[in-house]
Parts: sequence; structure tokens; C-alpha cells
Amino acid sequence: MKEAERREFVAEVHRRLKRRYASQMLTSLDHSSPWELLVATILSAQAQDSSVNLVTPKLFRAFKSIKDFSKATPSSLYPYVRSIGLYRTKSRNIVNSARMIMSEYSGKVPDRMEDLERLPGVGRKTANVVLSNAFGINSGIAIDTHCITVTNRLGIARTRKPEVIEDALMRYLPQKEWANISHLLIALGRDKCTARAKHCEGCVLNDICPSSTTGRKK
Ligand code: SF4
Repeated sequence: MKEAERREFVAEVHRRLKRRYASQMLTSLDHSSPWELLVATILSAQAQDSSVNLVTPKLFRAFKSIKDFSKATPSSLYPYVRSIGLYRTKSRNIVNSARMIMSEYSGKVPDRMEDLERLPGVGRKTANVVLSNAFGINSGIAIDTHCITVTNRLGIARTRKPEVIEDALMRYLPQKEWANISHLLIALGRDKCTARAKHCEGCVLNDICPSSTTGRKK
């Protein structure tokens, strides 16, 4: 596919997904502040958002502020997050992030990629989620496993490296859509194009997708 065709293909994928999953262009992690979103996103690594949403209400009632978390020991979080995979490491990262935010960022979650990436347990994906959903800043695209699966089946990427997929999408889509495309690919990945199975018959992309098992392929 030539560059111009690829650009048009990505734009068409984006248009169709936006029509189909318009209501899902927000993070499904419950939160009421940038800090709560940061904590929820750290907990959500290799875990379902729905599982995280089950534990965060009690966690945020027990520890009400960044300051509370900064004074806590990691093990004091365990009773609240025990059902989440890797909860010990995640608890340590949450407490250490809170301490760094208190000591180096005046108690406020930073809103720059380079600052967020300094926090323990925060990689580029988590930083992108927080920047776009808590601050409305599109400085990149959060690429999760759904995004990797779907972009590869669509032929937009031929790699599992998130940074390469992120670069490709950023090249073909306007910056204001970067957060949206992440949510839309995740929505399709959950709904029709799961890692385990393709449900192409009900997919809005089945006539243009090179991996489709049904429909008219161009
Ligand atoms: S047509 Fe099938 S393989 Fe292609 S994106 Fe849709 S569900 Fe996935």
C-alpha cells in the first residue's frame, strides 16, 4: 500500500470506528482526579479495567489524597488491591510515585510526558492515558494489547512494538484524534477483534480489513 493509500485507509478505519464506538471514547477506569487516574492506570497493567474499578472505590476512601498515599507503606495498600495481579509491585510504585509527587512536584500530578515517565511504574502508555484523559493533552497514543492485535490484523502495523505502532498512527492521524484512536481500537478489540478470536461478521471494518474472514475485501 502506498503512503497516500495507507493514510486514507487509517482515516477510513478511524471514521468508521468513531461512528460505531462514539460512546466509548473515554477511559473506562473510574476516577475523579488526575491522581486517581494515575493510580488506576498503574493498577490496570495486565489487568482488566473492570477489576480495577472494583477495588479503587475502597482504596480511595482509605487513602484520600496523594499525601495520604505518600505517608502509607506499600503493604498497607495490599488489603485493598490484593485481587489485582502484581499487587505488591504496583502498591510499591503507587506509594513511591506519591512520595515523588509530594517532594518534587508540589503535590500535583505533573502534566508533561517527561515528568510522568520519571514516576515509578509509569511508562509511556500510562503517561499517555493520564495526559489525554486527565489533562486533555494529546502528546502520544496509548498502545495496549488490543491496539497491537487490531492494528496488526488491519495491516496498519506488522510489529508488536508499541512505540512503532504509536508512531505509525501519529503519522496518519491528526493530533486531536490521538486519544480517541486508542479508545476506539480498544473498543473494537474488546467487542469484535479479540486476541482469541475474530468476529468479523459483525465488524464495521469487515469489507476493508485484509484479515477479514467475511465480507468484501478491497
Ligand atoms: S474484520 Fe475481523 S480481523 Fe478485521 S478488524 Fe474486524 S474483527 Fe478484526
